[in-house]
Amino acid sequence: MHHIIIFGPPGVGKGTQSLLIAEKYNLFHLSTGEYLRKAIDEETELGKKAKNIVEKGGLVPDDIMTGIVIQALKENIGGKDGFILDGFPRTLDQAKALDKIFGEMKIGGTEILYLKADEEELVSRLLKRGRKDDTEEIIRKRLRIYIETTEPIIEYYGSTGQVIEIHGVGAVEEIFGSICEKLG
Ligand code: AMP
Repeated sequence: MHHIIIFGPPGVGKGTQSLLIAEKYNLFHLSTGEYLRKAIDEETELGKKAKNIVEKGGLVPDDIMTGIVIQALKENIGGKDGFILDGFPRTLDQAKALDKIFGEMKIGGTEILYLKADEEELVSRLLKRGRKDDTEEIIRKRLRIYIETTEPIIEYYGSTGQVIEIHGVGAVEEIFGSICEKLG
């Protein structure tokens, strides 16, 4: 059983690695960014609320995001050998809400994967990816929010458990290999 939270700045390859991990270990993969982009494409109520925020690189309010994660976990972890969360939590309040959810759902033994890379490397990768929210200005804003709001959560987890640090630059298979070694 694996309960994984994957952290890392935008562009470090969290999405790619999460999919590989989910497949290998039979995990439910929840990417909150993907979830929001789908809602925006489908023009659902959530999509309408989130569109402007996501396209400008801001953060969707914590209560909305927490609600999405609770529901998705409850509906999708049956039949799986755990889950991997990609893109959540992104603020300290989300991290605390997640602790509460885990308590209620009796989920323990979380593994924190932390993918690291140099900022300039990330900007150039994201510019090549070319998603709608991948202009240089928005990329720098997402990176700034990441450093100011999301990185402190890693310290929060570091104080209560083990954080597995992975160097996020290199070939996809190589990085995946080092992740698998650490996950066991
Ligand atoms: P990502 O695909 O994880 O880079 O997420 C893309 C965008 O979705 C982010 O820039 C945010 O606007 C929004 N988003 C994704 N996850 C969250 C979250 N946990 N809290 C707030 N906003 C989020």
